Amino acid sequence: MPNSLRRPKIRANVDVVHRKVGERFEVIFIRRVSGAQSRFLINRTCLECLRLFNGENSIQDIARKSQASVEEVRRLTDTLQASKVATTSKKSVGPSALMDNLFSAQLSFLSDFSTARKLPITMHSKLETAHVVIVGTGGIGSWVSYGLALAGVSRLSLFDPDKVSRRNLSHQCLFEVGDVGLVKSAALALKLERMFEGLDVTSYQVHLDSSNSEMLLNENATLIINCADEPDTATLNRILTLACFEAAVPHILCGGYNGHLSFLGPTVIPGRTACWFCYEKSLERRTKNFKDLELEPVEAPSSDGSISPIAAITANFHVLEALKVLSGYSKPYLTNRAAEINYQDYSIETVCFKRKKGCFCESRRY
Ligand SMILES: [Zn+2]
Repeated sequence: MPNSLRRPKIRANVDVVHRKVGERFEVIFIRRVSGAQSRFLINRTCLECLRLFNGENSIQDIARKSQASVEEVRRLTDTLQASKVATTSKKSVGPSALMDNLFSAQLSFLSDFSTARKLPITMHSKLETAHVVIVGTGGIGSWVSYGLALAGVSRLSLFDPDKVSRRNLSHQCLFEVGDVGLVKSAALALKLERMFEGLDVTSYQVHLDSSNSEMLLNENATLIINCADEPDTATLNRILTLACFEAAVPHILCGGYNGHLSFLGPTVIPGRTACWFCYEKSLERRTKNFKDLELEPVEAPSSDGSISPIAAITANFHVLEALKVLSGYSKPYLTNRAAEINYQDYSIETVCFKRKKGCFCESRRY
């Protein structure tokens, strides 16, 4: 593609302000997340050019509309791109070319994270070819399945032993009155396949435990997400961790929610990050002082209450995490981390942990 046909665009996570300095203008690019600034002194013509950096105008278009030379616009584009405050895209993935595309909004989003080696269409195609296994299709798993289907994941496998009850209808996604009494994973699979063209969903009415977790090995999954909590989240996470490492599959261990708190992560990439057992070891270290007192453990009070926003928000954090793992548009946040959200004040507390020496995850090679 000729250099002048590139379409420059200010990155979506960058704010731009300017002020007059004598006959010129100081333009300040502020990254929203880090607050980092890049400053440039430019003339009025270049300032006019910047107003046309929208991903739709090519360098040639900008030169024509602003009366700058093509060389000037090219230099400005290269400078801003080198400073990582602007990107350029090809017409094939620009917003106007994608107006009729089902995923045009998502491709525009991904273009903010694109590089020469990581094009939006490449990132999106990784979603389209992914096969995600979801264990548990209740308060978290139903929303996770829906979120992944919306993003264009083309193959899902759903595991859940339960049937749909009337109680589920208030906070679990996509179930309706007519589904009551049906096998939950099958009802969800049917609904998703009706809604999303080309989506292939397999359902299993199975309670996964240590006696049958090898079923996961046959799935050839790209990603496995645990959204179940029977007999309890920690026990199931241990079982699934062993299976996921055996199959060398990335996995996200959704903590679920309890009352007004929800628990996020961790995300585990075998061979690269800490695993669930490393997390449990880190918890042991944090509670060591209490253990020295030889206190009897007290079962944490568990609430079986639920409300749809908490289920949906908790699940969608994990969907976002899954999209990062699958498409590679950004580094997953919950690797080597777990977090707790308090829905009373919307605060999030994050715990970091490392791979533990001697943990089985360290000895495996991938
Ligand atoms: Zn480990």
